[in-house]
Amino acid sequence: MLHRIGRDRVVYDMSPEHKPVLEVSPGDTVIVETEDCFCHRIVSESQTVGEDFDFTHVNPATGPVSVRGALPGDTLVVSIENIELDEQGVVETCPEWGPVTKVSQSCVTEIAKIHGNYVSFMGERIEVRPMIGVIGNAPADKSIPCTTPGKHGGNLDTKNIMAGSRVYLPVFIKGGNLSLGDVHARMGDGEVGGTGIEIRAKVKLTVDIDKMPLDSPTVENEEAFYLLFSAKTLEEASHGAVKRAIQFIADWKSIPEEKAYMLTSIACDLMISQVVNPLVTVRVRVPKEIL
Ligand code: CA
Ligand code: CA
Repeated sequence: MLHRIGRDRVVYDMSPEHKPVLEVSPGDTVIVETEDCFCHRIVSESQTVGEDFDFTHVNPATGPVSVRGALPGDTLVVSIENIELDEQGVVETCPEWGPVTKVSQSCVTEIAKIHGNYVSFMGERIEVRPMIGVIGNAPADKSIPCTTPGKHGGNLDTKNIMAGSRVYLPVFIKGGNLSLGDVHARMGDGEVGGTGIEIRAKVKLTVDIDKMPLDSPTVENEEAFYLLFSAKTLEEASHGAVKRAIQFIADWKSIPEEKAYMLTSIACDLMISQVVNPLVTVRVRVPKEIL
């Protein structure tokens, strides 16, 4: 069955308190309209997130969607089928954003127009690679702002979350209560300046339930699995993601962890997803050729 949710149905945190805006069955498809991370308040280059910008309302996520039969301890499987971009996106940076501060003296905006598979950015033609920045389930017993990533998902800013990939998210409450937003027409690993090309979109996805538990978000595409981990520092996040990879490979192949560690070392890539959110996110890419 096909459902739709408009981009007026948004939340700014992932919370067990939010009532679902839609209930679907496993196998159902949903077209989710997403708002851009600035709630479409920056639509020209004369606008910036300068002084009077309301930062209490950023990174809206459309939803939540409850999935019938999903129970705490299950895994929600979200297959991203298509991401249709709006006609223009926005790139923004400010003096204090990202690892290198004071590159700009004030907040600056660039508008990027979409032309089919390309975006024009400062006169350059750059290929679009649409991806979802925010996607997650409601946590069990607290609210987590959509600006923050974690075990529930959230602001993961991981560029493999794109059409053709499958996102696995732990379920903490009945129904899971999935919400998503913050689509980027393109983003580099790290999202170092603070944004990708922030844009409204229509995301077509199919949901399913896996009865296997999961401890943190995982992404799968044709070639690989990506095991994500978010933490306060890159060191802690790397530790968490590599530990997940060792466990994943050891379980998959029924081999001791020390052998799985060696396989991780020779064939898997430790990659940075983003370094600009309240927790940073890294991932380990486990190629299917070794599984
Ligand atoms: Ca983001
Ligand atoms: Ca963003």
